[in-house]
Amino acid sequence: MTKEKLALEIIERLKNEYPQADCTLDYNEAWKLLVSVRLAAQCTDARVNVIVEELFSVYPDVETLAGAPVEEIERIVKPCGLGKSKARDISACMKILHEQYGGKVPEDFDALLKLPGVGRKSANLIMGDVFHKPAIVTDTHCIRLVNRMGLVDNIKEPKKVEMALWKLIPPEEGSDFCHRLVYHGREVCTARTKPYCDKCCVKDLCAHNGVQE
Ligand code: SF4
Repeated sequence: MTKEKLALEIIERLKNEYPQADCTLDYNEAWKLLVSVRLAAQCTDARVNVIVEELFSVYPDVETLAGAPVEEIERIVKPCGLGKSKARDISACMKILHEQYGGKVPEDFDALLKLPGVGRKSANLIMGDVFHKPAIVTDTHCIRLVNRMGLVDNIKEPKKVEMALWKLIPPEEGSDFCHRLVYHGREVCTARTKPYCDKCCVKDLCAHNGVQE
C-alpha cells in the first residue's frame, strides 16, 4: 500500500474511533488559545486548563494581560513549568497583539510565527482550530504515531515530519487528524508503556504493530 493510501485509510479509521476531534486545551477566544499553547510546552493540557482559569480571571482580555507585570504572570503560570520564559513570551506576545493587531490574533501563518513563543506547532494549531485552515500539528504524539504507523520513516524533527505529512494528508483533514492522533496516543499508542496494539483500530495497517522500540 502506498503511504498516501495508508494515510487515507488511517484517517478514516481514526474518524470512526474518535468522532470528536477537538483540541484538549479549553478556550473560547483565539488569544486565550495562544496563551494556553505557550503554557502547554512541557506541561499537560489538563494542568494548563486549570492554571489559565486564574490567569484569565485576573486578566480577562488582551489589553489587561499586555499591561500585566511579567512577574505577576510568572507567579500564576509557574506551576506549568518554565515560568519565567513563558511569562516573558506571553507578555511580549500580548503587547504585540494589543499594539499591532488591535487585540486580535493574526490570521496569517507567517505573522503568527513572528509572535514571541510561537513556533510552527502552535501556529498550525491556531490556523487549524481558530481559523479552520489546513494545518498539521506535529506534537510529540503525532511524531511518535506517524513513525510507528509507517507514514514517515524514522523522521523525528517536527518540521520534517510536518513537511512529509503535507504530502500525504488531504489539507482539510490535517487539523482533525492531528487531534485524533493525540487521543490515540494517550489511550492506545502510548509513549510510556508498550502500545496497546491488540486493541488498536489500525493494527492491521500499522508498519510496526508495536514491534519497534
Ligand atoms: S498497532 Fe500498535 S504501534 Fe501501531 S498505531 Fe496501533 S498501538 Fe500504535
